[in-house]
Amino acid sequence: MDNNKILEDIQSCIDCETCREECDTFAATQDELKSPNGRLKIAEKIFSNREISEEEIISLYTCTLCGACSLVCTQGIPIADIIHASKIKLVDQNKAPLEIHKKIIKGILDKDNSVNGTPEERLDWLPEEYKDSELFEQGDSDTLLFLGCMSSFRVKESASTSYEILKKGGYHFKILENEPCCGEYIYSAGDLKLAIKTFEENFRIFKKYGIKNLIVTCGGCLYAFNKVYPKYLEGYNINVKHIVDVVHELVKEGRIKLKSLNKSITYHDACRMGRKLKGMKLYDEPRNLLNKTQSTVNELPKNRDKTPCCGAGSGIRGVDSSISIKIGSKIFEDMQTKEIVTSCPLCVFNFRYVNYKTQMDKNCRYITDYLLESIETK
Ligand code: SF4
Ligand code: SF4
Repeated sequence: MDNNKILEDIQSCIDCETCREECDTFAATQDELKSPNGRLKIAEKIFSNREISEEEIISLYTCTLCGACSLVCTQGIPIADIIHASKIKLVDQNKAPLEIHKKIIKGILDKDNSVNGTPEERLDWLPEEYKDSELFEQGDSDTLLFLGCMSSFRVKESASTSYEILKKGGYHFKILENEPCCGEYIYSAGDLKLAIKTFEENFRIFKKYGIKNLIVTCGGCLYAFNKVYPKYLEGYNINVKHIVDVVHELVKEGRIKLKSLNKSITYHDACRMGRKLKGMKLYDEPRNLLNKTQSTVNELPKNRDKTPCCGAGSGIRGVDSSISIKIGSKIFEDMQTKEIVTSCPLCVFNFRYVNYKTQMDKNCRYITDYLLESIETK
């Protein structure tokens, strides 16, 4: 983003405060500095080369980059993009990222994952019955099921059930024995140079193994591979789909059949599968699939483009977990069911963390875990 254009955009803010209505971090803290227009004022200082305080830096790093504010801004200001550009500028000036981000980025470089997982345990999710037959990189397919750090280490059933459903549908794909991190965490933290290096290295791996299509389980990976990689990589030509989209196709083609589960659940849209993707929003597909299981799909008061972030986007849990807990518990309060289903493992992870911290007795499941239960076996 061009500095002058950023300043021009920021200065077009009329302080109408419409954006605040949509900002979950402002709702959780009632802190001016943690509101979208408050963050724009911090960004203005950064792009005008004025001093900013540690507290202001933290305010930028407690933004989930969910993009809800940008959608409603009365002046069309790309608020979330400007907040992200401010982080990049701060990293250039050696004022960021914060220590917690540096630690996680070191983990990505040392262990190839953003969740401090033990590399030798990355494939622990692989179902026992497929362990001997899995060919990994040598598999005869140009489609890669890319699990990502969250699915591989922290919400393992999202990896195993995605894999199993694809196998049951007779889908040809392969997985990597040593999967890297997609780099979205590094990008969100504002270390653009290192993020681009990660993107280039991953693209090199994809080309080496003849990968033309990616299937991902995580909203963050989907956003990175679909929206961020093409911005920075020349010749990037990988088709990227979310597992929900692929399962939806398999059901449509009759390659898998779903039977009745007859339950009542709430569905949560992940921001990186919806409004952050702009042209490619996955709102109807998960609901269609859940409806096919004869489940009653309850909606949150705000859904689809207006859906609240789960509270964990952009690594804010590491900066101020109390905000993540407040955002998540508000979602729980708004639910009419015990069970919530979502299509992003980071949302599952944060909801489980919120449930543990608040003891609100909710149950969160990843969508393929829920759907696998309903697949008819021949
Ligand atoms: S991107 Fe989301 S968290 Fe950040 S300021 Fe906008 S609405 Fe608030
Ligand atoms: S909606 Fe736009 S113009 Fe209004 S306060 Fe927020 S950033 Fe400023």
